Amino acid sequence: MHPFDYARSTNVDDAIRSGARASTRFIAGGTNLVDLLKTTVEKPAHIVDINALPLASIEDVDGGLRIGALARMSDVAAHPLVMQRFPAISQALLLSASPQLRNAASIGGNLMQRTRCPYFRELTWTPCNKRNPGDGCSARDGDNHMQAILGTSDACIAVHQSDLAVAVSALDGVLTLQGPNGERRVNATDFHLLPGNTPHIEHDLAAGELITSVFLPDAPHAARSAYLKVRDRTSYEFALASAAIGLALDGGVIRSIRIALGGVGTKPWRARTAEAMLTGKRATAENARAAADAELQQARGYGANDYKIELAKRTLVRAFVELAGGAA
Ligand SMILES: Cc1cc2nc3c(=O)[nH]c(=O)nc-3n(C[C@H](O)[C@H](O)[C@H](O)COP(=O)(O)OP(=O)(O)OC[C@H]3O[C@@H](n4cnc5c(N)ncnc54)[C@H](O)[C@@H]3O)c2cc1C
Ligand code: SF4
Repeated sequence: MHPFDYARSTNVDDAIRSGARASTRFIAGGTNLVDLLKTTVEKPAHIVDINALPLASIEDVDGGLRIGALARMSDVAAHPLVMQRFPAISQALLLSASPQLRNAASIGGNLMQRTRCPYFRELTWTPCNKRNPGDGCSARDGDNHMQAILGTSDACIAVHQSDLAVAVSALDGVLTLQGPNGERRVNATDFHLLPGNTPHIEHDLAAGELITSVFLPDAPHAARSAYLKVRDRTSYEFALASAAIGLALDGGVIRSIRIALGGVGTKPWRARTAEAMLTGKRATAENARAAADAELQQARGYGANDYKIELAKRTLVRAFVELAGGAA
């Protein structure tokens, strides 16, 4: 591990000031960052502990719920208002990691977690553009069975693996960010960035900026939402493919629908093509399959992950049919 200095901030302004120094990382639960420190994938000179900041509340506010960035994954998953009004969020969290990790890990840290691409994290230092820009990408012609099929580039095909981010993206979540230049809001769908030629730039967060909260807007499709995660084993594993869907029906007709896919994109993948195709249509499995086919038309496999194209379609259709119930 590279040496770093450690300071604990007790107010947001102080954390932002400290965080704006070069080579600084915030630490919350530490369940992602500490691994990367130990392998020296991350080598910050300064670490600012943000756990004492007053950002852990879950509040019922005008038009929705506001979840503090330091709320723990387990607390959010079990919160009655989250379960009632945003079931997909609760389910996505409960299907993430393990109970111990969920007790320690924060909402902000989850959204900021870095990829599990083995070439990014491994110690033998094969080329990786995300870790070392300009190095090359070992996954494209290597072990890519877990990697992305949507939003990839020549520079990087690493999948984004946060389950929560997929559900927040589907349900039109809005992040509040606070930094040296004040506060701003960013739609969750715009927060994570496609790799393009700069895979090391992963999100819209400037130096010193903190995620302070996530706002979830109430909507009929949010109250009827679900998260389906397909993985190699049924617990303690990252997604091969997942789908977060919110659905509002009028009789058997889709009044509004929100869909995001996980485990398949270089960022949480909002399936806008599928949403547009399904809105106003009957809630049938056939219509869902046609929408999934259209959404995945832009997918590209790299050999070992070709299976994800069909898997993503089936995951979307199954999640839709289960949610629509008797209407499908
Ligand atoms: C074995 C294992 C299995 C896992 N399985 C899953 C899974 O199935 N699904 C899933 O979604 N996740 C999974 N995870 C990831 C886990 O959910 C994350 O490690 C965790 O959510 C990170 O939260 P944290 O508070 O510990 O973040 P930290 O490790 O403290 O921080 C992670 C990153 O976020 C930054 N950060 C933290 N808080 C903020 C903030 N408020 N503002 C700005 N930056 C911030 C830090 O600087 C750091 O870069 C798994 C992790 C492990 C170790
Ligand atoms: S996919 Fe991205 S993270 Fe993985 S080796 Fe290639 S550049 Fe690195």
